Amino acid sequence: MSEYEYDLFVIGAGSGGVRASRVAAAHGAKVAVAEEYRVGGTCVIRGCVPKKLLVYGSHFAEDLEDAQNYGWTIGRMSFDWPKLRDHVLRDVDRLNGLYTQTLENNGVERFLERATVTGPNSVKLASGREISAKYILIAVGCWPAMPDVPGIEHAVSSNEMFHLEELPRRLVVIGGGYIAMEFAGIFNALGSQVTLCNRSEALLRGYDRALVDRLVQISMARGIDIKLNAPFERIEKDEDGTLQVHAGRGDPIPADAVLVATGRKPNTAGLGLESAGVELGRNGAIAVDDHGKTSCDSIYAVGDVTDRVQLTPVAIREGQAFADTLFGDKPTKVDYDCIPSAVFSHPPLAGVGLTEGDARNKLGKIRVYSSDFRPMKNIFADRAERGLYKMVVDDTTGRVVGLHMIGPEAPEILQAAAIAVKAGLTKADFDATVALHPSMAEELVLMR
Ligand code: NDP
Repeated sequence: MSEYEYDLFVIGAGSGGVRASRVAAAHGAKVAVAEEYRVGGTCVIRGCVPKKLLVYGSHFAEDLEDAQNYGWTIGRMSFDWPKLRDHVLRDVDRLNGLYTQTLENNGVERFLERATVTGPNSVKLASGREISAKYILIAVGCWPAMPDVPGIEHAVSSNEMFHLEELPRRLVVIGGGYIAMEFAGIFNALGSQVTLCNRSEALLRGYDRALVDRLVQISMARGIDIKLNAPFERIEKDEDGTLQVHAGRGDPIPADAVLVATGRKPNTAGLGLESAGVELGRNGAIAVDDHGKTSCDSIYAVGDVTDRVQLTPVAIREGQAFADTLFGDKPTKVDYDCIPSAVFSHPPLAGVGLTEGDARNKLGKIRVYSSDFRPMKNIFADRAERGLYKMVVDDTTGRVVGLHMIGPEAPEILQAAAIAVKAGLTKADFDATVALHPSMAEELVLMR
Protein backbone atom coordinates (compact mmCIF):
# COMPACT_ATOMS: atom_id res chain seq x y z
CA MET A 1 0.00 0.00 0.00
CA SER A 2 1.31 3.45 -0.94
CA GLU A 3 1.43 6.04 1.82
CA TYR A 4 -0.21 8.48 -0.64
CA GLU A 5 -3.78 8.60 -1.96
CA TYR A 6 -2.56 9.17 -5.52
CA ASP A 7 0.64 8.51 -7.44
CA LEU A 8 0.11 11.76 -9.31
CA PHE A 9 -2.02 14.82 -8.68
CA VAL A 10 -2.18 17.24 -11.59
CA ILE A 11 -3.28 20.84 -11.16
CA GLY A 12 -4.67 22.19 -14.44
CA ALA A 13 -6.46 20.23 -17.18
CA GLY A 14 -5.11 22.04 -20.22
CA SER A 15 -3.04 20.58 -23.05
CA GLY A 16 -0.03 19.65 -20.89
CA GLY A 17 -2.01 18.49 -17.85
CA VAL A 18 -4.43 16.30 -19.78
CA ARG A 19 -1.64 14.61 -21.74
CA ALA A 20 0.42 13.97 -18.61
CA SER A 21 -2.62 12.65 -16.68
CA ARG A 22 -3.83 10.24 -19.28
CA VAL A 23 -0.38 8.88 -20.20
CA ALA A 24 0.59 8.46 -16.52
CA ALA A 25 -2.70 6.62 -15.92
CA ALA A 26 -2.09 4.44 -18.99
CA HIS A 27 1.31 3.55 -17.50
CA GLY A 28 -0.56 2.27 -14.44
CA ALA A 29 -0.40 5.25 -12.08
CA LYS A 30 -3.33 6.30 -9.89
CA VAL A 31 -4.01 9.84 -11.12
CA ALA A 32 -6.30 12.74 -10.26
CA VAL A 33 -6.55 16.15 -11.89
CA ALA A 34 -8.07 19.38 -10.60
CA GLU A 35 -9.40 22.06 -12.93
CA GLU A 36 -11.08 25.24 -11.72
CA TYR A 37 -12.71 26.18 -15.02
CA ARG A 38 -13.18 23.79 -17.94
CA VAL A 39 -11.27 20.74 -19.14
CA GLY A 40 -9.24 21.63 -22.24
CA GLY A 41 -7.35 24.70 -21.04
CA THR A 42 -6.43 27.83 -22.96
CA CYS A 43 -5.94 26.18 -26.35
CA VAL A 44 -9.31 24.47 -26.48
CA ILE A 45 -11.48 26.81 -24.43
CA ARG A 46 -10.21 30.35 -25.19
CA GLY A 47 -7.24 30.10 -27.52
CA CYS A 48 -5.98 28.25 -30.58
CA VAL A 49 -9.15 26.32 -31.41
CA PRO A 50 -11.88 28.99 -31.17
CA LYS A 51 -9.41 31.51 -32.66
CA LYS A 52 -8.80 29.30 -35.68
CA LEU A 53 -12.55 28.92 -36.18
CA LEU A 54 -12.87 32.72 -36.18
CA VAL A 55 -10.00 32.89 -38.70
CA TYR A 56 -11.90 30.47 -40.95
CA GLY A 57 -15.11 32.43 -40.45
CA SER A 58 -13.51 35.76 -41.28
CA HIS A 59 -11.69 34.37 -44.33
CA PHE A 60 -15.00 34.03 -46.14
CA ALA A 61 -15.02 37.82 -46.53
CA GLU A 62 -12.13 37.70 -49.00
CA ASP A 63 -13.16 34.37 -50.50
CA LEU A 64 -16.61 35.72 -51.34
CA GLU A 65 -15.08 38.87 -52.80
CA ASP A 66 -12.59 36.87 -54.90
CA ALA A 67 -15.30 34.46 -56.01
CA GLN A 68 -16.64 37.01 -58.49
CA ASN A 69 -13.62 36.72 -60.81
CA TYR A 70 -14.13 32.97 -60.67
CA GLY A 71 -17.58 33.35 -62.18
CA TRP A 72 -19.74 33.42 -59.09
CA THR A 73 -22.47 35.98 -58.64
CA ILE A 74 -23.01 36.52 -54.97
CA GLY A 75 -26.21 38.17 -53.79
CA ARG A 76 -26.37 40.64 -50.95
CA MET A 77 -23.93 39.47 -48.31
CA SER A 78 -24.30 39.98 -44.61
CA PHE A 79 -22.48 38.69 -41.59
CA ASP A 80 -24.06 37.60 -38.32
CA TRP A 81 -21.55 37.76 -35.45
CA PRO A 82 -23.78 36.11 -32.80
CA LYS A 83 -24.33 33.19 -35.17
CA LEU A 84 -20.59 32.58 -35.68
CA ARG A 85 -19.81 33.25 -32.00
CA ASP A 86 -22.43 30.81 -30.72
CA HIS A 87 -21.47 28.12 -33.18
CA VAL A 88 -17.82 28.46 -32.11
CA LEU A 89 -18.82 28.27 -28.44
CA ARG A 90 -20.84 25.12 -29.14
CA ASP A 91 -17.75 23.56 -30.67
CA VAL A 92 -15.79 24.49 -27.57
CA ASP A 93 -18.46 22.66 -25.52
CA ARG A 94 -18.04 19.62 -27.75
CA LEU A 95 -14.27 19.58 -27.28
CA ASN A 96 -14.61 20.13 -23.56
CA GLY A 97 -16.76 16.98 -23.53
CA LEU A 98 -14.22 15.01 -25.58
CA TYR A 99 -11.32 15.99 -23.32
CA THR A 100 -13.35 15.06 -20.25
CA GLN A 101 -14.19 11.72 -21.87
CA THR A 102 -10.50 11.05 -22.55
CA LEU A 103 -9.67 11.51 -18.88
CA GLU A 104 -12.58 9.31 -17.86
CA ASN A 105 -11.67 6.56 -20.34
CA ASN A 106 -8.17 6.47 -18.88
CA GLY A 107 -9.39 6.25 -15.30
CA VAL A 108 -8.21 9.72 -14.29
CA GLU A 109 -10.25 11.11 -11.39
CA ARG A 110 -11.43 14.70 -11.93
CA PHE A 111 -12.06 17.46 -9.42
CA LEU A 112 -13.69 20.45 -11.08
CA GLU A 113 -12.49 22.98 -8.53
CA ARG A 114 -9.40 24.95 -7.67
CA ALA A 115 -6.54 23.13 -5.96
CA THR A 116 -3.56 24.70 -4.22
CA VAL A 117 -0.31 23.19 -3.02
CA THR A 118 0.05 22.82 0.76
CA GLY A 119 3.34 20.91 0.88
CA PRO A 120 5.70 18.72 -1.18
CA ASN A 121 3.12 15.92 -1.29
CA SER A 122 -0.19 17.57 -0.53
CA VAL A 123 -2.81 19.73 -2.16
CA LYS A 124 -6.01 21.28 -0.88
CA LEU A 125 -9.20 21.53 -2.90
CA ALA A 126 -11.36 24.67 -2.75
CA SER A 127 -14.05 22.59 -1.06
CA GLY A 128 -11.62 21.93 1.80
CA ARG A 129 -10.46 18.36 1.18
CA GLU A 130 -6.73 17.67 1.64
CA ILE A 131 -5.23 15.12 -0.74
CA SER A 132 -1.82 13.47 -0.65
CA ALA A 133 0.15 12.45 -3.73
CA LYS A 134 3.59 11.04 -4.40
CA TYR A 135 4.08 13.54 -7.21
CA ILE A 136 2.36 16.82 -8.03
CA LEU A 137 2.36 18.28 -11.54
CA ILE A 138 1.65 21.98 -12.01
CA ALA A 139 0.13 22.65 -15.42
CA VAL A 140 -1.90 25.80 -14.77
CA GLY A 141 -0.78 27.77 -17.82
CA CYS A 142 -0.75 31.53 -18.22
CA TRP A 143 -3.27 34.32 -18.01
CA PRO A 144 -3.44 37.62 -19.96
CA ALA A 145 -1.19 40.28 -18.41
CA MET A 146 -3.20 43.51 -18.33
CA PRO A 147 -1.08 46.67 -17.94
CA ASP A 148 -1.89 48.78 -14.91
CA VAL A 149 -3.14 51.95 -16.65
CA PRO A 150 -6.15 54.15 -15.85
CA GLY A 151 -9.35 52.83 -17.43
CA ILE A 152 -8.01 49.29 -17.99
CA GLU A 153 -11.35 47.98 -16.64
CA HIS A 154 -12.91 49.10 -19.94
CA ALA A 155 -10.62 46.83 -21.96
CA VAL A 156 -10.96 43.12 -22.61
CA SER A 157 -8.39 40.37 -23.07
CA SER A 158 -8.47 37.62 -25.70
CA ASN A 159 -10.52 35.56 -23.22
CA GLU A 160 -13.54 37.84 -23.64
CA MET A 161 -13.19 38.36 -27.39
CA PHE A 162 -14.94 35.03 -27.98
CA HIS A 163 -17.99 36.22 -26.05
CA LEU A 164 -18.52 39.79 -27.37
CA GLU A 165 -22.20 40.75 -27.39
CA GLU A 166 -21.88 42.39 -30.78
CA LEU A 167 -19.31 43.00 -33.47
CA PRO A 168 -17.48 46.19 -32.49
CA ARG A 169 -17.76 48.86 -35.17
CA ARG A 170 -14.41 50.26 -34.01
CA LEU A 171 -11.83 47.99 -32.35
CA VAL A 172 -8.54 49.16 -30.88
CA VAL A 173 -5.94 46.46 -30.31
CA ILE A 174 -3.07 47.10 -27.91
CA GLY A 175 0.10 45.04 -28.49
CA GLY A 176 1.97 43.70 -31.48
CA GLY A 177 2.39 39.99 -30.81
CA TYR A 178 0.54 36.86 -31.90
CA ILE A 179 -2.80 37.66 -30.33
CA ALA A 180 -2.83 41.29 -31.46
CA MET A 181 -2.07 40.46 -35.10
CA GLU A 182 -4.47 37.54 -35.24
CA PHE A 183 -7.46 39.38 -33.78
CA ALA A 184 -6.70 42.51 -35.81
CA GLY A 185 -6.90 40.37 -38.95
CA ILE A 186 -10.08 38.56 -37.89
CA PHE A 187 -12.07 41.67 -36.94
CA ASN A 188 -10.81 43.70 -39.90
CA ALA A 189 -12.08 40.96 -42.21
CA LEU A 190 -15.39 40.77 -40.35
CA GLY A 191 -15.94 44.49 -40.96
CA SER A 192 -14.69 46.28 -37.84
CA GLN A 193 -12.54 49.36 -38.21
CA VAL A 194 -9.35 48.19 -36.53
CA THR A 195 -6.51 50.30 -35.10
CA LEU A 196 -3.49 48.50 -33.65
CA CYS A 197 -1.18 50.34 -31.25
CA ASN A 198 2.25 48.92 -30.47
CA ARG A 199 4.64 50.43 -27.95
CA SER A 200 7.74 49.97 -30.13
CA GLU A 201 8.58 49.64 -33.82
CA ALA A 202 8.89 45.88 -33.67
CA LEU A 203 5.84 43.72 -34.28
CA LEU A 204 5.96 39.95 -33.88
CA ARG A 205 9.38 39.78 -32.30
CA GLY A 206 11.14 36.51 -33.14
CA TYR A 207 9.81 36.32 -36.70
CA ASP A 208 11.87 37.21 -39.76
CA ARG A 209 11.80 40.98 -40.31
CA ALA A 210 11.14 40.83 -44.05
CA LEU A 211 8.03 38.73 -43.49
CA VAL A 212 6.74 40.92 -40.70
CA ASP A 213 7.23 43.97 -42.93
CA ARG A 214 5.21 42.23 -45.62
CA LEU A 215 2.42 41.46 -43.15
CA VAL A 216 2.36 45.09 -41.98
CA GLN A 217 2.16 46.32 -45.56
CA ILE A 218 -0.68 43.93 -46.46
CA SER A 219 -2.55 44.60 -43.21
CA MET A 220 -2.42 48.35 -43.79
CA ALA A 221 -3.56 47.93 -47.39
CA ARG A 222 -6.49 45.94 -46.03
CA GLY A 223 -7.44 48.86 -43.82
CA ILE A 224 -5.86 48.08 -40.44
CA ASP A 225 -4.42 51.27 -39.01
CA ILE A 226 -1.10 50.25 -37.42
CA LYS A 227 0.40 52.78 -35.04
CA LEU A 228 4.01 52.14 -34.01
CA ASN A 229 5.82 53.78 -31.10
CA ALA A 230 2.39 54.30 -29.55
CA PRO A 231 2.64 53.25 -25.88
CA PHE A 232 -0.68 52.53 -24.20
CA GLU A 233 -1.46 55.23 -21.61
CA ARG A 234 -5.11 55.12 -20.60
CA ILE A 235 -8.76 54.63 -21.59
CA GLU A 236 -11.52 57.13 -20.91
CA LYS A 237 -15.19 56.37 -21.32
CA ASP A 238 -17.48 59.02 -22.85
CA GLU A 239 -21.06 59.47 -21.70
CA ASP A 240 -22.35 57.73 -24.84
CA GLY A 241 -20.18 54.68 -24.04
CA THR A 242 -17.43 55.42 -26.58
CA LEU A 243 -14.01 54.44 -25.30
CA GLN A 244 -11.21 56.92 -25.96
CA VAL A 245 -7.85 55.19 -26.15
CA HIS A 246 -4.76 57.25 -25.42
CA ALA A 247 -1.66 55.67 -26.94
CA GLY A 248 1.33 57.75 -27.94
CA ARG A 249 1.12 61.06 -29.70
CA GLY A 250 -1.94 62.29 -31.52
CA ASP A 251 -5.62 62.41 -30.66
CA PRO A 252 -7.22 59.65 -28.59
CA ILE A 253 -8.66 56.84 -30.71
CA PRO A 254 -12.41 56.25 -30.33
CA ALA A 255 -13.46 52.64 -29.94
CA ASP A 256 -16.41 50.40 -29.12
CA ALA A 257 -14.07 47.69 -27.80
CA VAL A 258 -10.43 47.63 -26.73
CA LEU A 259 -8.47 44.38 -26.83
CA VAL A 260 -5.32 44.33 -24.75
CA ALA A 261 -2.86 41.65 -25.93
CA THR A 262 0.39 42.48 -24.21
CA GLY A 263 1.61 39.02 -23.29
CA ARG A 264 0.56 36.33 -20.85
CA LYS A 265 1.80 35.77 -17.32
CA PRO A 266 2.24 32.39 -15.55
CA ASN A 267 -0.71 31.59 -13.31
CA THR A 268 1.33 30.98 -10.16
CA ALA A 269 -0.09 33.62 -7.80
CA GLY A 270 -1.89 32.13 -4.80
CA LEU A 271 -1.03 28.56 -5.76
CA GLY A 272 0.74 27.83 -2.46
CA LEU A 273 4.03 26.93 -4.15
CA GLU A 274 6.06 28.55 -1.37
CA SER A 275 4.72 25.91 1.04
CA ALA A 276 6.76 23.32 -0.85
CA GLY A 277 9.78 25.50 -1.57
CA VAL A 278 9.07 25.70 -5.31
CA GLU A 279 11.21 28.50 -6.76
CA LEU A 280 9.82 30.94 -9.27
CA GLY A 281 11.82 32.65 -12.00
CA ARG A 282 11.26 35.67 -14.22
CA ASN A 283 7.66 36.80 -14.60
CA GLY A 284 6.46 34.36 -11.90
CA ALA A 285 7.27 31.32 -14.05
CA ILE A 286 8.10 28.02 -12.36
CA ALA A 287 11.79 27.21 -12.78
CA VAL A 288 12.33 23.60 -13.92
CA ASP A 289 15.17 21.32 -15.04
CA ASP A 290 15.33 19.35 -18.31
CA HIS A 291 12.78 16.87 -16.97
CA GLY A 292 10.33 19.48 -15.72
CA LYS A 293 11.38 19.04 -12.09
CA THR A 294 11.06 22.11 -9.85
CA SER A 295 13.27 22.94 -6.86
CA CYS A 296 11.04 20.53 -4.87
CA ASP A 297 11.84 16.89 -5.78
CA SER A 298 8.21 15.72 -5.81
CA ILE A 299 6.78 18.66 -7.77
CA TYR A 300 7.04 19.06 -11.54
CA ALA A 301 5.68 21.63 -14.01
CA VAL A 302 4.90 21.59 -17.73
CA GLY A 303 3.50 23.98 -20.30
CA ASP A 304 3.05 27.75 -20.31
CA VAL A 305 3.46 28.05 -16.53
CA THR A 306 7.18 27.41 -17.07
CA ASP A 307 7.28 30.25 -19.66
CA ARG A 308 9.71 28.54 -22.00
CA VAL A 309 7.85 28.15 -25.29
CA GLN A 310 4.18 29.14 -24.95
CA LEU A 311 2.80 26.77 -27.58
CA THR A 312 0.26 23.95 -27.22
CA PRO A 313 2.22 21.19 -29.00
CA VAL A 314 5.20 21.97 -26.76
CA ALA A 315 3.08 21.64 -23.60
CA ILE A 316 1.78 18.32 -24.93
CA ARG A 317 5.31 17.05 -25.53
CA GLU A 318 6.35 18.18 -22.06
CA GLY A 319 3.35 16.38 -20.51
CA GLN A 320 4.13 13.21 -22.44
CA ALA A 321 7.85 13.32 -21.54
CA PHE A 322 7.01 13.86 -17.87
CA ALA A 323 4.64 10.88 -17.75
CA ASP A 324 6.98 8.59 -19.71
CA THR A 325 9.92 9.53 -17.51
CA LEU A 326 8.22 9.13 -14.13
CA PHE A 327 5.70 6.38 -14.78
CA GLY A 328 6.73 4.67 -18.04
CA ASP A 329 10.33 3.85 -17.17
CA LYS A 330 11.37 5.76 -20.30
CA PRO A 331 13.40 8.87 -19.40
CA THR A 332 12.60 11.46 -22.08
CA LYS A 333 13.73 15.04 -22.64
CA VAL A 334 11.85 17.42 -24.89
CA ASP A 335 13.82 18.59 -27.91
CA TYR A 336 13.24 22.32 -28.35
CA ASP A 337 15.20 22.65 -31.56
CA CYS A 338 13.37 23.64 -34.77
CA ILE A 339 9.87 24.16 -33.35
CA PRO A 340 7.64 25.40 -36.16
CA SER A 341 5.17 28.16 -35.35
CA ALA A 342 2.64 30.33 -37.15
CA VAL A 343 0.68 33.51 -36.77
CA PHE A 344 -2.83 33.04 -38.12
CA SER A 345 -3.01 36.56 -39.46
CA HIS A 346 -4.55 37.53 -42.82
CA PRO A 347 -2.50 36.24 -44.63
CA PRO A 348 -0.82 33.83 -42.24
CA LEU A 349 2.87 33.80 -41.50
CA ALA A 350 4.90 30.76 -40.45
CA GLY A 351 8.49 29.90 -39.65
CA VAL A 352 10.89 27.25 -38.42
CA GLY A 353 14.53 27.48 -37.41
CA LEU A 354 16.73 30.56 -37.46
CA THR A 355 15.71 33.91 -38.90
CA GLU A 356 18.19 35.61 -41.22
CA GLY A 357 19.33 37.93 -38.40
CA ASP A 358 19.79 35.12 -35.86
CA ALA A 359 21.59 32.91 -38.36
CA ARG A 360 24.01 35.70 -39.25
CA ASN A 361 24.82 36.23 -35.58
CA LYS A 362 25.17 32.54 -34.82
CA LEU A 363 26.79 31.12 -37.95
CA GLY A 364 28.52 34.07 -39.58
CA LYS A 365 28.47 32.98 -43.20
CA ILE A 366 25.03 32.23 -44.52
CA ARG A 367 23.19 32.29 -47.82
CA VAL A 368 19.65 33.53 -48.13
CA TYR A 369 17.29 32.47 -50.89
CA SER A 370 13.87 33.92 -51.41
CA SER A 371 10.83 33.87 -53.59
CA ASP A 372 8.63 36.94 -53.75
CA PHE A 373 5.64 35.89 -55.79
CA ARG A 374 2.01 36.64 -56.44
CA PRO A 375 0.01 33.45 -55.97
CA MET A 376 -1.88 32.42 -59.10
CA LYS A 377 -5.09 32.47 -57.08
CA ASN A 378 -4.51 36.14 -56.20
CA ILE A 379 -3.58 37.19 -59.76
CA PHE A 380 -6.83 35.76 -61.09
CA ALA A 381 -8.83 37.43 -58.33
CA ASP A 382 -7.14 40.81 -58.95
CA ARG A 383 -5.72 40.69 -55.47
CA ALA A 384 -2.40 42.51 -55.34
CA GLU A 385 -1.05 40.67 -52.28
CA ARG A 386 2.24 38.88 -52.75
CA GLY A 387 3.65 35.90 -50.86
CA LEU A 388 7.22 35.83 -49.61
CA TYR A 389 9.24 32.69 -48.80
CA LYS A 390 12.73 32.83 -47.38
CA MET A 391 15.27 30.07 -46.89
CA VAL A 392 18.31 30.58 -44.69
CA VAL A 393 21.24 28.26 -45.43
CA ASP A 394 24.47 27.62 -43.50
CA ASP A 395 27.15 28.50 -46.07
CA THR A 396 29.63 25.98 -44.68
CA THR A 397 27.42 22.89 -44.75
CA GLY A 398 24.67 23.85 -47.19
CA ARG A 399 22.16 22.89 -44.51
CA VAL A 400 18.82 24.71 -44.43
CA VAL A 401 18.70 26.29 -40.96
CA GLY A 402 15.59 28.41 -41.35
CA LEU A 403 12.47 28.58 -43.46
CA HIS A 404 10.01 31.47 -43.28
CA MET A 405 6.89 32.12 -45.29
CA ILE A 406 3.95 34.46 -45.55
CA GLY A 407 1.09 33.81 -47.94
CA PRO A 408 -2.07 31.74 -48.30
CA GLU A 409 -1.88 28.40 -46.45
CA ALA A 410 1.66 29.15 -45.20
CA PRO A 411 1.21 27.18 -41.92
CA GLU A 412 -0.05 24.10 -43.79
CA ILE A 413 2.94 24.18 -46.16
CA LEU A 414 5.46 24.98 -43.45
CA GLN A 415 4.49 22.03 -41.23
CA ALA A 416 5.55 19.61 -43.98
CA ALA A 417 8.70 21.56 -44.87
CA ALA A 418 9.67 21.72 -41.18
CA ILE A 419 10.31 17.97 -41.29
CA ALA A 420 13.10 18.57 -43.82
CA VAL A 421 14.59 21.41 -41.78
CA LYS A 422 14.46 19.36 -38.58
CA ALA A 423 16.05 16.41 -40.41
CA GLY A 424 18.97 18.66 -41.38
CA LEU A 425 18.47 18.53 -45.15
CA THR A 426 20.47 20.81 -47.42
CA LYS A 427 19.49 23.31 -50.10
CA ALA A 428 20.68 20.71 -52.63
CA ASP A 429 18.20 18.19 -51.17
CA PHE A 430 15.36 20.67 -51.62
CA ASP A 431 16.49 21.39 -55.20
CA ALA A 432 16.70 17.68 -56.00
CA THR A 433 12.95 17.40 -55.37
CA VAL A 434 10.82 17.96 -58.46
CA ALA A 435 8.31 20.80 -58.16
CA LEU A 436 4.65 19.97 -57.73
CA HIS A 437 3.04 22.24 -60.28
CA PRO A 438 1.02 24.40 -60.06
CA SER A 439 1.20 25.03 -56.34
CA MET A 440 2.51 27.69 -53.99
CA ALA A 441 4.61 25.12 -52.15
CA GLU A 442 6.69 24.48 -55.27
CA GLU A 443 8.48 27.77 -54.55
CA LEU A 444 10.30 25.82 -51.83
CA VAL A 445 12.25 23.82 -54.38
CA LEU A 446 12.68 26.65 -56.89
CA MET A 447 14.25 29.34 -54.73
CA ARG A 448 17.15 31.26 -56.17
P1 NDP B 1 3.36 38.19 -27.36
O1 NDP B 1 4.45 37.90 -26.41
O2 NDP B 1 3.31 37.49 -28.67
O3 NDP B 1 3.34 39.74 -27.67
C1 NDP B 1 3.15 40.70 -26.66
C2 NDP B 1 3.10 42.06 -27.31
O4 NDP B 1 2.70 43.03 -26.36
C3 NDP B 1 4.45 42.51 -27.86
O5 NDP B 1 4.23 43.26 -29.02
C4 NDP B 1 4.97 43.40 -26.72
O6 NDP B 1 5.84 44.40 -27.14
C5 NDP B 1 3.69 44.04 -26.23
N1 NDP B 1 3.73 44.46 -24.85
C6 NDP B 1 4.18 43.78 -23.78
N2 NDP B 1 4.00 44.48 -22.65
C7 NDP B 1 3.42 45.64 -23.02
C8 NDP B 1 2.96 46.78 -22.30
N3 NDP B 1 3.08 46.86 -20.99
N4 NDP B 1 2.41 47.80 -23.01
C9 NDP B 1 2.28 47.71 -24.34
N5 NDP B 1 2.68 46.66 -25.08
C10 NDP B 1 3.25 45.63 -24.42
O7 NDP B 1 2.02 37.99 -26.50
P2 NDP B 1 0.52 37.66 -26.88
O8 NDP B 1 -0.26 38.18 -25.75
O9 NDP B 1 0.18 38.10 -28.26
O10 NDP B 1 0.50 36.07 -26.86
C11 NDP B 1 0.97 35.35 -25.72
C12 NDP B 1 1.60 34.04 -26.14
O11 NDP B 1 0.60 33.15 -26.55
C13 NDP B 1 2.56 34.15 -27.30
O12 NDP B 1 3.85 34.43 -26.89
C14 NDP B 1 2.45 32.82 -27.97
O13 NDP B 1 3.45 31.97 -27.46
C15 NDP B 1 1.08 32.32 -27.58
N6 NDP B 1 0.19 32.39 -28.74
C16 NDP B 1 0.47 31.62 -29.83
C17 NDP B 1 -0.33 31.67 -30.95
C18 NDP B 1 0.02 30.85 -32.15
O14 NDP B 1 0.81 29.93 -32.02
N7 NDP B 1 -0.54 31.13 -33.34
C19 NDP B 1 -1.52 32.51 -31.00
C20 NDP B 1 -1.73 33.29 -29.80
C21 NDP B 1 -0.90 33.21 -28.72
P3 NDP B 1 7.43 44.18 -27.17
O15 NDP B 1 7.71 43.29 -28.33
O16 NDP B 1 7.95 45.55 -27.32
O17 NDP B 1 7.79 43.53 -25.86
